[in-house]
Amino acid sequence: MMSVTPIPALSDNYIWLIRQDNSQGVCVVDPGEAPPVIDFLERESLTLDSILITHHHHDHTGGLAALKARYSPMVIGPHNPDIQGIDQRVGEGDQVRVLGRAFEVMETPGHTLDHISYFTPGIPALLFCGDTLFHAGCGRLFEGTPEQMLTSLRRFAELPQETLVFAAHEYTQANLSFARAADPENDAVTRAQQECEKARALGRPTLPSTIGRELTINPYLRVGTESVRQAAGMQGANDDELATFTTLREWKNRF
Ligand SMILES: [Zn+2]
Repeated sequence: MMSVTPIPALSDNYIWLIRQDNSQGVCVVDPGEAPPVIDFLERESLTLDSILITHHHHDHTGGLAALKARYSPMVIGPHNPDIQGIDQRVGEGDQVRVLGRAFEVMETPGHTLDHISYFTPGIPALLFCGDTLFHAGCGRLFEGTPEQMLTSLRRFAELPQETLVFAAHEYTQANLSFARAADPENDAVTRAQQECEKARALGRPTLPSTIGRELTINPYLRVGTESVRQAAGMQGANDDELATFTTLREWKNRF
């Protein structure tokens, strides 16, 4: 059985630690810094078998060099040559084996052009989506187009609904405040806000989410609904789903 544990890092990142049964060797996803990972591994007497990288941003790769020097893990990541220290570069349709389980690589551009996500089917299915899909939100468009991001998100929407979604940031509360404005008639958003406030007050992560939950509360996955379309129309174009998505993403930047 695969288990996934968050290691909080930097101001609001999660470095996800994947473990298979009680094996000593583990995998971490997007280590933006090394010290919290080293502390965790030392405390639990674990060693680092592999690292998955989703994209080139420093808050996802900053700990790579130090972890590599200390543990010599296999580092898997995108083809972008700007990222130093990748051992196995992967792209769309590639399969990688992590702790004995097969992960499918999906190219999911939008936040950056090199962004990839890792999906493993099974019970439970797991998705490591970096800064593409967040709980109740999506990443900023630093390099890609709205169309690229919408396409990436639509691919996630096709995954099994019970898939656990491991996003790389704790942005849920801010995202839900926006979701309330962007999807005002959606009671599920209000309920999610209450749940997430409670979790944060107890110092607990609001992640993972699930694909099914995101389809219910994430406005960027709900651009085809009348409630979201109308709210977007007060801010900009909403002629079709792409226009609605583009308006939402720009609105969020100034929200
Ligand atoms: Zn990023």
